[in-house]
Amino acid sequence: MKVLITGGAGFIGSHLVDACIQRGDQVSVIDDLSTGSRQNLTHLEGHPNFAFTLDDVRNQTVVGALVDDCDVVFHLAAAVGVRLVVENPVKTIETNVQGTEVLLAEAAKTGKVVLLTSTSEVYGLSADVPFQEEGNLVLGNSKKGRWSYACSKLLDEFLALAYHREQDLPAIVVRLFNTVGPRQTGRYGMVIPRFVQQALRNEPITVYGDGSQSRCFGFVKDVVSAMIGLIEKPAARGDIFNIGSSEEVSIQELAEQVREMTGSDSEIVHVPYDQAYAEGFEDMPRRTPDLAKISRLTGYQPEATLADILSSVIAYYRAASRVD
Ligand code: UDP
Repeated sequence: MKVLITGGAGFIGSHLVDACIQRGDQVSVIDDLSTGSRQNLTHLEGHPNFAFTLDDVRNQTVVGALVDDCDVVFHLAAAVGVRLVVENPVKTIETNVQGTEVLLAEAAKTGKVVLLTSTSEVYGLSADVPFQEEGNLVLGNSKKGRWSYACSKLLDEFLALAYHREQDLPAIVVRLFNTVGPRQTGRYGMVIPRFVQQALRNEPITVYGDGSQSRCFGFVKDVVSAMIGLIEKPAARGDIFNIGSSEEVSIQELAEQVREMTGSDSEIVHVPYDQAYAEGFEDMPRRTPDLAKISRLTGYQPEATLADILSSVIAYYRAASRVD
């Protein structure tokens, strides 16, 4: 296949590039390197099946030419991370909405298969755990910046499904649940790279709130193979799928496990949310995916356990050259 990956220099994008190259696909990446990094792809420079375009996904002319030249688009280019969203709301909303508008409009001209990456954040404060794709989405009020991310991604979902309905665009929506693994940076607030680096430096491990909030962490290699699996299923088109893991852990337990696995002397400290983010920040207590739908269609089963994930992230940050 000829594959276009928007945001291919990012953490998840670059793992998807690797998986596609390994399958023998021809891979083209567009990335503006705003949060992604060329370093994530240096090992592919000069590879005959790999091409890189440094540009903004909102550049319609460039995106149009790249879309025309591929069979399948994985659309990952987006503003990432709760911290970035809270600190740069205008940029988040504009990047996430306008980029997807351009991409879908171009893909619709030639009916290319598009996989749009959305987020578990859209389930918001719903208490209906585990979250099912057809369940209600419960967002907080619009004065709380965090929800702009969910809203912008939801608009992307609506638009992709609308293109599918009205113009038969073969679009698939995936909602990713806390994807983690090597190459993820802690700069945008993500908890596992932050805890691992804090532990390796014997600095305090910063648990926000009382640490009773829980998450399920999906290993990036499992996540990208799930995405590739969906592209190959015509029945996935026009539909939404959760991707992640159902192994749930509280953030307090996570901090303890990271400390133990790194053999660190770090103390675990609790930081009030208002201090960690902006005042009035709202966190979700639990976020667990129901994976029945994707596993019915593709046989998807996450393979990595939380311990496997932590080992690989610890090894990544232990490698001498890694400074985040
Ligand atoms: N978190 C934390 N300490 C940190 C960073 C994050 O306790 O240094 C918490 C955060 O408040 C949330 C969870 O870890 O409850 C996961 O945060 P992350 O930003 O990785 O993803 P989110 O689930 O918020 O999208």
